[in-house]
Amino acid sequence: MRSRYDDEEAGRYVREAAAQGVDEVLALRTYTARLLGKDGALVLHGGGNTSVKTTATTLLGETIDVLRVKGSGWDLATIAPAGHPAVRLAPLHEARRLATMTDEDMVNLLRTNLLDASAPTPSVETLLHAYLPARYIDHTHADALLALADQPDGETLCRRVYGPGLVWVPYVMPGFALAKRCADAYDAHVRSGRPAEVIVLERHGIFTMGETAKASYERMILAVARAEEYISGKKPLAGTSCASPRSELEARLLPYLRGVLAKLSGAPSERGPVVAVRATERILAFLARPDAERLSSIGCATPDHVLRTKPTALFLRDLPVAEDRPGSPATTSLSDRIEQAVVGYASRYDAYFAEMCAAKSVSKTKMDPWPRVLLVPGVGVCGVGKTLDEARIVLDVYEHTIDVMTDAAAIGAYAPVSASDLFDVEYWSLEQAKLKKGADPMLGGAVAVVTGAASGIGLATAMRFVALGAHVLIVDRRADALRDVLGAMTRSAGSRVASCVADLVQPSEAQAAVSVACRTFGGVDVVVSNAGDAPEGDLGTEEGEARLRASLETNLLTHNHVARAALAVMKAQGRGGCLLFNASKAAWNPGPRFGPYAVAKAALLALMRQYAIDGGHWGLRSNAVNADRIRTALFAGGVAESRAAARGVEVDAYFRSNLLGREVLADDVAEAFVYLAGARATTGCVVTVDGGNAAAFPR
Ligand code: ZN
Repeated sequence: MRSRYDDEEAGRYVREAAAQGVDEVLALRTYTARLLGKDGALVLHGGGNTSVKTTATTLLGETIDVLRVKGSGWDLATIAPAGHPAVRLAPLHEARRLATMTDEDMVNLLRTNLLDASAPTPSVETLLHAYLPARYIDHTHADALLALADQPDGETLCRRVYGPGLVWVPYVMPGFALAKRCADAYDAHVRSGRPAEVIVLERHGIFTMGETAKASYERMILAVARAEEYISGKKPLAGTSCASPRSELEARLLPYLRGVLAKLSGAPSERGPVVAVRATERILAFLARPDAERLSSIGCATPDHVLRTKPTALFLRDLPVAEDRPGSPATTSLSDRIEQAVVGYASRYDAYFAEMCAAKSVSKTKMDPWPRVLLVPGVGVCGVGKTLDEARIVLDVYEHTIDVMTDAAAIGAYAPVSASDLFDVEYWSLEQAKLKKGADPMLGGAVAVVTGAASGIGLATAMRFVALGAHVLIVDRRADALRDVLGAMTRSAGSRVASCVADLVQPSEAQAAVSVACRTFGGVDVVVSNAGDAPEGDLGTEEGEARLRASLETNLLTHNHVARAALAVMKAQGRGGCLLFNASKAAWNPGPRFGPYAVAKAALLALMRQYAIDGGHWGLRSNAVNADRIRTALFAGGVAESRAAARGVEVDAYFRSNLLGREVLADDVAEAFVYLAGARATTGCVVTVDGGNAAAFPR
């Protein structure tokens, strides 16, 4: 690890901050906090904290000493000056006299001494920052340091690495007690005449200090580099990694994992968690180690990881992933094997909860017992979350946990914070507050594949699904248009939208698109099979018949290619599924010389019904939307003019000629797909979205 401090960049921070009325002290605090936050080997997703002691002027013009310390909810990687709210220092120092303080009293003390009443609550480690005298203080949970501090005798190891400049603080949970313990250890160390360069909190993390932002930051980097250097001398235990093509294994395995987790956690049908996988060389080598299962069942590398990963991961050994095919007898065994393992994990979690409550004589509300991390040798680490963002945070944390376990085992033995101490953090009211709770959006937990999504009805539907909380794979054969749509949708939906270019006329491309959904989100619940075209022609001619044949490919068989690929995934999940087809009023009320289109769309309705009949017994729902005259790309290239002429009206009138006399929009069709995606008692149904067309009333 090396310093990324750049004087020029620091200068830029100072100038930009000055333009916003922020002083140099806070500007440089912001700069080095971000430097720490940008390196996952130092801190992850809201972990770690930083501070600076400075002065502030009150409303009455009085200058007072304040601590500017990281506020809850800020991430060091993206922290702004407002992310270090100012707290009056004097009352914090006075409180050091107290023998004990509850967490609630501590939060109240911090909040009532904020200079800005609307500022975020200062970090739970604020008092520790306050009681250390240095101006700038940095705190991280660096991987390399944890490899030294998560040891049966971490103190000896750390003394070997850091020498007399080390202040060692035995494990105490964050809060008032830790702040006092740490400050007392620091004061005693300094009184004894030794330099205090590095403070290591046993099984937790590291603090460095300095009179400038640069000095404190560079001490952190130096301390972590020394830990890395110590570790690099010891070779990690080698393992053999699996050589089979992982993407195929992932696509096959994830729907089973997702289905079992959805079922056991009581998710409604057609909904489930997101399961994402990560497999680097280092991860695969770790999973191939003979002691990987044992190491992964010990505990978290630093206490606050427990909120992301639970105390332990679930190791899934010898799963028959490779030979499995949905519908084969082995499928049941794969699903059963996963279910047994997850149930076993949950009962161990329940036992841990009961045991801890009894041992501590406390009564707590138990959180769900389901694993967040599943380890599959040869495949990778699977992270589970309500959203892909959440699953990726789990993966980030666990990827670094693997680094810590690997290094700790190489230099000694991995011995992190105990189950009892982890329980205190997992069930600590202040840490629980970090996890946001809110009502699930209507399509939260649904993974949808929308075809023909680069424009028109497909695009409107994909946008509506995403707005309602679904994770959506948008599919289209037009690569450029799809790229633009993805860019625009990503700005609002972030990682909940992904794309795949596919020509669905090819069954293999439909299969590949569904595979991408599985590898990205863990499975598929809803298919909006929308892609198609609108060929005209007279069936009684050779040309008309050729167009009919082509239309059967684009407007009928493509739908089956997608449905078939999705069906295999839905069966693997075992949670039912929802097929939605974009039919057309042409299926009921064909227009003149529109045979190639109308015949294929009529067949599509038959296809929809057939799936409803054949799949109902295992929870598959199949429905269609019967839309008419939506101004989309389908009507481009003269088709609108030609269809209007065929009905003997102007183009605008053509689009409004329905019982309601209003033009029907792509958004109207999207709403119908949304409705059907939630209509759990509806299958084999056609929802009409055409403004009212008596000749096309379904009958
Ligand atoms: Zn910490």
